[in-house]
Amino acid sequence: MSARRILLLGPPGAGKGTQAQRLVDRLSIPQISTGDMFRAAVAAGTELGKQLEAIMDSGELVRDEIVIAVCRERLTQGDAGDGFILDGFPRTVGQAEALDGLLDSLGVKLERCVALVVDDEAIVQRLLKRAQVEGRSDDNEETIRHRMRVYREQTEPLVAYYRERGVLVEVSGMGGIDAVAHGIQEALA
Ligand code: AMP
Repeated sequence: MSARRILLLGPPGAGKGTQAQRLVDRLSIPQISTGDMFRAAVAAGTELGKQLEAIMDSGELVRDEIVIAVCRERLTQGDAGDGFILDGFPRTVGQAEALDGLLDSLGVKLERCVALVVDDEAIVQRLLKRAQVEGRSDDNEETIRHRMRVYREQTEPLVAYYRERGVLVEVSGMGGIDAVAHGIQEALA
């Protein structure tokens, strides 16, 4: 039996998106990526998208109220009823507390937080490579280093938050994609 209400935690470039996709295929539950939802809003040119674009390009975090509203909407959709993989949300303690309240109101609990453990410098190099391939506008070196600092300051405290709640498992994110996927599978068992 695998956990089905899952949070993937880790700095930008740790491989959360790739691993989330593996879990989507294996467990048939949706990936909920705030970054992907925000990029879709930017691409669609919506009002929200226009506000988000500048924030994302700077490497800063989008305001908690906006992020929480978007996730509330997404988590209450039918396909998330039997499980979900959160990727890139929550990113602050305030968002984590809001998520607890939201899941409480839905009568469910987060079953596992998988924290991918990686080396910062290796990640910066990985992201610079991704910048060339995908051409993401927030993948330049200055913004990458800034997003790393933002992660360490605002998001890393969630490791302790979920450890205290007894749902944290740390998995090395430094191996190949298959090796990391295997580590995650064991962590969810
Ligand atoms: P990602 O694709 O997860 O790396 O997200 C790209 C950008 O979207 C981040 O650098 C933030 O500007 C914004 N973003 C995504 N998720 C969140 C979140 N949970 N809280 C605040 N900002 C977010």
